[in-house]
Amino acid sequence: MLKVSGVSTSYGKIQAIKNIDLHVEQGSIVTILGANGVGKTTTMKTIAGLLTPKQGKVEFMGEDVTGLRPDQLVRKGISLVPEGRAILSNMTVLENLEMGAYHRKDKEIEQDIEKEMERFPILKERQKQLGGTLSGGQQQMLAIARALLTKPKLLLLDEPSMGLAPLIVADIFKIIKEINQAGTTVLLVEQNARQALKIADYGYVLETGKVVASGKASELIKDPRIMEAYLGKK
Ligand code: ATP
Repeated sequence: MLKVSGVSTSYGKIQAIKNIDLHVEQGSIVTILGANGVGKTTTMKTIAGLLTPKQGKVEFMGEDVTGLRPDQLVRKGISLVPEGRAILSNMTVLENLEMGAYHRKDKEIEQDIEKEMERFPILKERQKQLGGTLSGGQQQMLAIARALLTKPKLLLLDEPSMGLAPLIVADIFKIIKEINQAGTTVLLVEQNARQALKIADYGYVLETGKVVASGKASELIKDPRIMEAYLGKK
């Protein structure tokens, strides 16, 4: 479904990712792991069209989508939940959800908003509250629901568990698995390696902008070298 080939992205003279290759098969959960600052967010932003690669190619559903704008990629079915969630704090929960569907012209928007509120009952309860008044976990749920309202084929999640309490983290991972089982392919960036590998099919490990290991999640999680060298946390 997604094929990233030889992609390099720079910030001015700083090359943040170098010659990255990634594959995401339709229906799977793929995770990108690695320490702070190794280029995970840069990779996600490049796939979502927020950054343009200096080299390489991004293909989605067999089509070359390299260099397309984020809104064009959203229409093709790629939606990013950014690191830090990017909730609109001065808009209500309902308005935030409506923003997710802003480019849609179909008649199912209200019905889909209702569906997301069933998936996340707390959002229904708080629909009139301002986004900024939600807790971190609730904001993450809102950001995920908003992204799902774009009707993505591929959902990109950048560190969804960041800054959340362990119980909430468990909820978020459970929800990600459910979203995947309902048919959405997921590319997940995480520092919480063990939890990510538990729900993922395949994983990539990044170090200083390069892929240094990859494999089936069930094998990566058993590989002591990988777990010790890169995934020491939790
Ligand atoms: P984090 O866990 O902090 O999100 P990351 O693995 O996602 O880290 P990136 O944010 O992709 O890493 O950063 C990769 C490299 O690019 C780092 O060395 C970082 O300092 C650098 N970098 C990131 N954003 C910028 C920017 N806007 N301008 C210059 N350098 C940047």
